[in-house]
Amino acid sequence: AAKNKGRNGFCFFMPSMQEASQNRMLMLTHLHLAIQRQEFVVFYQPIIDLQSGAIYKAEALIRWQHPSQGLVSPADFIPIAEEHGLIHEIGQWVFHQVVDQFKDWQAQYQTHLQISVNVSPLQFQGLDNFVEEWLLYLQTAGIAPDNIIIEITEGVLLEANTKAMEKLFAFADNDMQIAIDDFGTGYSSLSYLTKFDIHFLKIDKSFVNNLTPESNDLTLIKAIIILAHQLGLKVIAEGVETELQRDLLQQMGCDFAQGYLYSKPLSAAEFTHFL
Ligand code: C2E
Ligand code: MG
Ligand code: MG
Ligand code: MG
Repeated sequence: AAKNKGRNGFCFFMPSMQEASQNRMLMLTHLHLAIQRQEFVVFYQPIIDLQSGAIYKAEALIRWQHPSQGLVSPADFIPIAEEHGLIHEIGQWVFHQVVDQFKDWQAQYQTHLQISVNVSPLQFQGLDNFVEEWLLYLQTAGIAPDNIIIEITEGVLLEANTKAMEKLFAFADNDMQIAIDDFGTGYSSLSYLTKFDIHFLKIDKSFVNNLTPESNDLTLIKAIIILAHQLGLKVIAEGVETELQRDLLQQMGCDFAQGYLYSKPLSAAEFTHFL
């Protein structure tokens, strides 16, 4: 709100802003319906083991199949879902979807797969203990919890109140793995890395984008990898698009890579072919 204010504190209401807020209202109405009409789909982006080349991980990424607008990016509707309390329901839907799909894959391919699921900071702030429900869902499906990686951002750990801590510890105590998403973009505090049981750091794609042999990002990434390995964590690089980036990451000992170089996020059917 404040950033929309002019120099004198007046709020300049531009036509484009009005349009934008109308779009958001419309989107909200449609989001409510989308949940009822089951218009969401989960895509899977392969995560490659840089040392062996094997694929046994994927990140689950939600999309919205809008009846008139086509596939809508989560970047466009997750913030609205968060703002209006719909994220809990959507988050739960994604988790159930992933587990159901996983059950199929596990029956078809006996390999050890791991699927990572993004969990919104707001899901941690809720009073209900969704972790228990998720663990029960896994148990009923006959899937070991260590097949699931929970992706959270640094803020979740830094701002964790008692309720959020309970959930984080419940995940860890029950062998679900935790990854820090978009690592390096949020905060400079690193103390949380040893306070919680974390398995993976995901280096944000903004660092990987500009990766060249002489770049500062190379130095940064190298330092992150050393730090992570010293603490016993594995590193996943996001947004790997070129062979040069892959080669540099491999040379630095990065463990896993994810990005368009290997594959865009795929529908469940497409990912099955990939397997
Ligand atoms: P994220 O978790 O950091 O996911 C990585 C994003 O990078 C994905 O965007 C992915 O498609 C994109 N990406 C992957 N490889 C490349 C590449 O080589 N180059 C570029 N430029 N981009 C690449 P996507 O699918 O649009 O998702 C955006 C964000 O929406 C995610 O960022 C995540 O924060 C959020 N999100 C997605 N699914 C869910 C969900 O089920 N729940 C919640 N709470 N958030 C979700
Ligand atoms: Mg993620
Ligand atoms: Mg990420
Ligand atoms: Mg990211």
